[in-house]
Amino acid sequence: IVSIKNVRKSYGDLEVLKGVSFDVQKGEVICIIGPSGSGKSTLIRCINALADIQGGSIQVEGQEVHDDALDKLELRKKVGMVFQQYNLFPHKTALQNIMMAPVKVLKQPKAEVEKRALALLKKVRMQGKENSYPGELSGGQQQRVAIARSLAMQPDVMLFDEVTAALDPETVNEVLVTIKDLAADGMTCILVTHEMGFAREVADHIYFTDNGVIVEHGPPATFFDNAQDDRTKAFLGQIL
Ligand code: ATP
Ligand code: MG
Repeated sequence: IVSIKNVRKSYGDLEVLKGVSFDVQKGEVICIIGPSGSGKSTLIRCINALADIQGGSIQVEGQEVHDDALDKLELRKKVGMVFQQYNLFPHKTALQNIMMAPVKVLKQPKAEVEKRALALLKKVRMQGKENSYPGELSGGQQQRVAIARSLAMQPDVMLFDEVTAALDPETVNEVLVTIKDLAADGMTCILVTHEMGFAREVADHIYFTDNGVIVEHGPPATFFDNAQDDRTKAFLGQIL
């Protein structure tokens, strides 16, 4: 469903991605891990065209993402994204936050969107909170609303960039459970995460990036228990 081939990306003289390639099949959960500054966020941003690329190709459902002819709105409908900072609209309720893009951007009928939004709140285990404002919710609850808001566009792929990194430890798990639910429903997920327990349990495949390249990858059992590359070993040694 996502095909990344030899992607290169620079900011000025700084080459951040130096030929990154991998494929994601429908329904797979992929975790990208690696040290700070290794290009993880940049890669995620390139997948939904928030950042441009200087070489290689990225295809989503067979369509070239970095093609001037591509309709960005069509891409954003297919590829949902949740960031570390949840960025909900503070003066809108949870329900209004979720409904906004389908109603305003996709021009879908309000009644239909509301029904879907309520079902999504339930899915992220936030039923009863539809009329709460972001300021009245914990960080973990806000992040779950942000996930529901992204799902309201009915994407085929979800991108998560360190969505639990800014949360209090006690709310991290509720967000991970939400993502686990999504994965169990068959949603294709690409996550940047430092949650190694989650990656081991939920990921189908793990990619370790360092300095703009994938230095090691494999299924969790192989990756965590039998890492070959010295950089992977050093990283895991620090974090586990
Ligand atoms: P972290 O774990 O800290 O989030 P990361 O792996 O996500 O790190 P990136 O955010 O992708 O790393 O950044 C990779 C490199 O690109 C860094 O050296 C960073 O300073 C640089 N960089 C990122 N965004 C920009 C930008 N908009 N302009 C210039 N340089 C950038
Ligand atoms: Mg990052």
